[in-house]
Amino acid sequence: MNEVLLCKYGEIVLKGANRSYFEDVLCKELRKKAKKCGEFSVSRAQSTVYIEPLDEFCDMDAMLAEAQKVFGIVAIARAYVCEKSLEDISRAARELIAPEIRGYKTFKVEAKRSDKRFPLDSMDLSREIGGVLLSANPRVKVDVKNPEIIVKVEIRERAAYIYAGWHKGAGGMPVGTNGKGLLLLSGGIDSPVAGYMMAKRGVKLEAVHFESFPYTSERALQKVLDLAKIVSDYSGDIYVHIISLTHIQEELVKHCEEDYFTLLLRRYMMALSNKVAARYDCGALITGESVGQVASQTMQAIGVTDAVAEIPVFRPCIGMDKEEIVQISRKIGAFETSILPYEDCCTVFTPKHPKTKPTLEKVVEQENKLPFDELVEEAFATMKTVRISHDC
Ligand code: ATP
Ligand code: MG
Repeated sequence: MNEVLLCKYGEIVLKGANRSYFEDVLCKELRKKAKKCGEFSVSRAQSTVYIEPLDEFCDMDAMLAEAQKVFGIVAIARAYVCEKSLEDISRAARELIAPEIRGYKTFKVEAKRSDKRFPLDSMDLSREIGGVLLSANPRVKVDVKNPEIIVKVEIRERAAYIYAGWHKGAGGMPVGTNGKGLLLLSGGIDSPVAGYMMAKRGVKLEAVHFESFPYTSERALQKVLDLAKIVSDYSGDIYVHIISLTHIQEELVKHCEEDYFTLLLRRYMMALSNKVAARYDCGALITGESVGQVASQTMQAIGVTDAVAEIPVFRPCIGMDKEEIVQISRKIGAFETSILPYEDCCTVFTPKHPKTKPTLEKVVEQENKLPFDELVEEAFATMKTVRISHDC
């Protein structure tokens, strides 16, 4: 019997007039993912995306795993496709669903008949299929209030479908439906998580990484590109723009007070990010900052860096504990890469006593010891771009 994946939308359902635009983006993303798993048809009807295998070489397990990474889908059912006859549905229940629910103590059947030409109504159909399952599995009991597993039967326009339980989807909104943001991507734990979280809200990602070669190594850069690749599995392709801060850092060390190095550097990063965002049409900057985590992330320090930003700065990790961030990092498969011990430009030339309660006035006083705009222009000219795609 043929199998199909039925994908249920989340918030898209609320989108009213724009809904078909969201659905189209979602289907496009699923088609891209499907290419890795075989010949599938991806189509939509009745608030559901159908992913159907077109030949026997299709890898359904892989397709399910890929679909679970696509934002905008809340749940995925692996359903059997039946003819719209009680006989065929009962056969699927007996031969395929009964073994699937064998390990459960209680179940219930929920039938839904959107094709009203089907002779049994939902109640009768639920009862019939419940009976089939009970006789195939005498140890399982029906519990309509709090069942361990729900078996669904859906009589739709195209066919009838039967399945036991759901697989969790990634939630969120389809990537690209909420504009584009520029992720400041370091090699740490937090910024890949921040990128993932914004992508989940439908924001397409572009990324900027600041290096300080030769103080930072080629391997450190490769680690960042590897992280971008991990995030791109959820967000789609990412262009990573790499900018050298080497000269800026050397000038800071020569001319400015040590305690201000990190803050000043972060203001340069923001200024450069403004320029990258403007060139590539990004409506917001995204960072992995979390309030109080390190000296440069106190409320005052964030205020001082934020003052340079010309567009909104999204900090999705701002209220999270490290442990919570680590949990997401593990979930998306980034953690093992993030903890590789390579240096970051923020970790070279770090002050021994960074200012935790800086005032903007003092920071600007230090900053004015150098030709800020000139150094920004010069660094911007070092920008190189790499396209990261999860498929290659
Ligand atoms: P992360 O784990 O993301 O590296 P962190 O806790 O180490 O964060 P910081 O080093 O202070 O914190 O950086 C704060 C944020 O600034 C990062 O989350 C990232 O968004 C940005 N950032 C830091 N270093 C770089 C870099 N070399 N290139 C691009 N962005 C950076
Ligand atoms: Mg860092």
